[in-house]
Amino acid sequence: MYKELKIAIDGPAAAGKSTIAKMTAEKLGYTYIDTGAMYRALTHKALVQNIDTNDGDKLTALLRDTAIVLLPSAKGQKVIVDDVDVSEEIRSQQVTAHVSAVAVHSGVRALMVEKQQQLAEGTGVVMDGRDIGTAVLPNAELKIFMTASVEERAMRRYLENEKRGMATPLEQLAAEISERDRADSERVVSPLKQAEDAIVIDTTSMTIEEVAREISKLAEERAHI
Ligand code: C5P
Repeated sequence: MYKELKIAIDGPAAAGKSTIAKMTAEKLGYTYIDTGAMYRALTHKALVQNIDTNDGDKLTALLRDTAIVLLPSAKGQKVIVDDVDVSEEIRSQQVTAHVSAVAVHSGVRALMVEKQQQLAEGTGVVMDGRDIGTAVLPNAELKIFMTASVEERAMRRYLENEKRGMATPLEQLAAEISERDRADSERVVSPLKQAEDAIVIDTTSMTIEEVAREISKLAEERAHI
């Protein structure tokens, strides 16, 4: 007998969490939820509306008034905000530079966690983010903390950007990634932190397939009743 699991994948920026989470969800027939995309979606809307990213109350009110829908698609996950597809826009440099500031606010986080818990209800799910194992799904049957060296993560992001026609210097990417990790780790509410019962996977010298295989193996062990 097998049961459907909640799988939490947390870790620093550009560690490959989304790629692996998506692959694992497909393999197991589970729902994949990219929570970073939800914070990015709110950040994008706030920037379009010229809302100060330091204003937690305004951002919380904005989120309350925002419909974020995540749809599975061949290219990953489509992100629809108020009926508009913003999947490309939320990956922009500008959104990346502001998202950690938006994610510090307790009101924003409380609403996001509520939405994410609703999405995970009653179904097998693979969710990736920063606080999934610690705050969103504290009872997840499998918690993974995925890391890799900053140099490796910057290189992966560089290659990913290249494929999308963006040429960002490697040093700039490494600096941005380090700064985002610092902001996400130092914030007061639900900082980026390894859950006590998480399994750490350092992917620095692993291929995507190796990481995916390792996680699927762990999931199969936990799913067996
Ligand atoms: O995963 P991704 O890099 O797209 O996440 C973008 C940002 O969203 C993170 O740097 C972090 O500030 C925020 N985030 C968060 N909690 C999550 C997921 C993302 O604070 N669960």
